[in-house]
Amino acid sequence: MPHKTSVSIPWRLKGGRYTFTGSECKKCEKAYFPGRTYCPDCHENMTDKKFSGNGTILTFTENHMAPAGFEKYVPYFMAIIQLDKGPMIAGHVVGDTTNIAIGKKVKPVFRKLFEDGDEGLIHYGMKFELV
Ligand SMILES: [Zn+2]
Repeated sequence: MPHKTSVSIPWRLKGGRYTFTGSECKKCEKAYFPGRTYCPDCHENMTDKKFSGNGTILTFTENHMAPAGFEKYVPYFMAIIQLDKGPMIAGHVVGDTTNIAIGKKVKPVFRKLFEDGDEGLIHYGMKFELV
C-alpha cells in the first residue's frame, strides 16, 4: 500500500505537475525538469522555464509488474521523452499505444497519477499520449 502524502507536498510540486514548469540556468542555459535552484554545472541561479510538454520518444518499455498502488495500470508503457526545447524526462504513455515506437511524437495529457489509499489524496499530473 502506498504511503500517505502530506498535503504540502503536492502543493510544492504543482508547477511541475500541472504546468510543466522546470528551470533554466541563467548562465549556460541548460534546462532541467523538475526544476532546480542552482545549476549543477556552473552553480548559477536558475529561472523558471515552462515547457510545452510535447516531445519525442527516445526509448520505451512495457511494464508488466508495478509498484504498490499502480497495479491497475499493468501492463503500461514508460518512455524516455526528449521534450521539445527541453530536457529528457521519464513519462507514462497512455491512451492508444498500439503504434508506440522510438521516434514517435507525444503530447502531454492531464491524468490521475495515483491515490493515497481509499481515504487519502488523489494526485493528478501529466502523462503522455501519442500524437
Ligand atoms: Zn549553468
